[in-house]
Amino acid sequence: MLKTRLKRCFYLSKRLAWALGELQVLFLFCVFLFLLLVIVFGMFLLFLWQCFCLSIYICYSVMYVPLISSFDPWQSGLCTCPSKLTFNPYTGCDHSCIYCYASSYIVGFNECKPKKALLERLRTEAPKLRGEIISLSNSSDPYPRTEQYTGLTRRCLELLVKSNCRIQIVTKSNLVVRDDDLLKQVPSTVAFTITTDDDKLAKTLEPNAPSPSQRLSAAEDLISQDIPVSVRIDPIIPFINDQPQKLVKTLAAIGVKHITCSTYKAKADNWKRLSTTLPDVAKKLEPLYFKEGERVGGNILLPKELRLKILKNVRDIAAAEGLKFSCCREGLERLNTESCDGTWLLKN
Ligand code: SF4
Repeated sequence: MLKTRLKRCFYLSKRLAWALGELQVLFLFCVFLFLLLVIVFGMFLLFLWQCFCLSIYICYSVMYVPLISSFDPWQSGLCTCPSKLTFNPYTGCDHSCIYCYASSYIVGFNECKPKKALLERLRTEAPKLRGEIISLSNSSDPYPRTEQYTGLTRRCLELLVKSNCRIQIVTKSNLVVRDDDLLKQVPSTVAFTITTDDDKLAKTLEPNAPSPSQRLSAAEDLISQDIPVSVRIDPIIPFINDQPQKLVKTLAAIGVKHITCSTYKAKADNWKRLSTTLPDVAKKLEPLYFKEGERVGGNILLPKELRLKILKNVRDIAAAEGLKFSCCREGLERLNTESCDGTWLLKN
């Protein structure tokens, strides 16, 4: 009898231990499930929070980051420009110049897009101007090919002209002549970039920009209307356009008052384009830039002595033709005969 009872007790305790073991497993499983749910839910909340922050950031960028800002060319310590504001109606540029610097900062730079809510934002910002110099544009051309259909830069100029400001246009396009009526209403000046007077060479260097001949006749047209013009021979690339005597003489003959020069600054992305497009020239340039050159910020410049020689030569030609001269981001301000960006031409 006792033996049977003991057996039964033993059997029951075994069952109990088994049941307790099962419960423990079940309990651990529930804890695991709970933790998993907490983690998944936490990640979901984190995702929602990130979406929320991103949308706030996008709204802020579009609506509140000012379109008009202080000119600060990528915080270059070599910039000697007088204080001015800058405004780019477009992001990106479709002129596709092989030496373009801005393309290394903006992904998809060749797709030219107007700034988001451009006119709405400018309507808020333009009335706050107090006679400052505003430069259009320093990161991308204000007259890309698309401008002839959108007319956005013209509409921006209409708003700026109503405000109290002085305007400098920096462009490679003759389309600026379309807006001469607006430019005549305020102190304004136009800086054409003309790297060469050879239309064929320009087609290689600046495939989608209007030809130098078109730019020169646009410059002549504006000068005849009393809108002062300066010209940027920028960039000067050895073996390509470092002997611009003929161009400088032409500029003087049509009444250009000032030239700004700057030598080519190699960056990974523009060097890739240059060496693919002009492999023979690139072979000659390679040691000058990558062995003897000077690294400044993210750029590689020609050796200083060579820059001095090239720029001094252009300055002397300019002086002989009665033109003011300056160089841009070279560390050679001593060569300048006027403020570097040609804004001295603005009538006050
Ligand atoms: S015009 Fe200026 S911004 Fe446009 S591609 Fe040429 S260098 Fe770049």
